[in-house]
Amino acid sequence: MRNVCTCETCQTPFVSQKHSTICFDCALKHFAGNTDPEEGDFNSALLLSGKMTDNEARWLQEDLKSVEQVQDDFAEEEIDMDICEICGGDSLWCHCEDQD
Ligand SMILES: [Zn+2]
Repeated sequence: MRNVCTCETCQTPFVSQKHSTICFDCALKHFAGNTDPEEGDFNSALLLSGKMTDNEARWLQEDLKSVEQVQDDFAEEEIDMDICEICGGDSLWCHCEDQD
């Protein structure tokens, strides 16, 4: 799912995977304030602006190295299946995440 949204803060159009009202740049400023953005701020801004889906955000927090692959996978179509990053299978069926 891709939507062209307009940021209510800076009036700039941007592409979002949700119906967002704030672009990544403005969201990042919102979360980071006047300090240097931290990793959590980037994640929150990506999520709020719709640059990332909820699943992508979760994966980013779990494994930063997988981000590029995830973005490639989500570039063309919305996939509503959870892929387990531990075994690579459908996480509905595996039990990897049950083992903390
Ligand atoms: Zn903006």
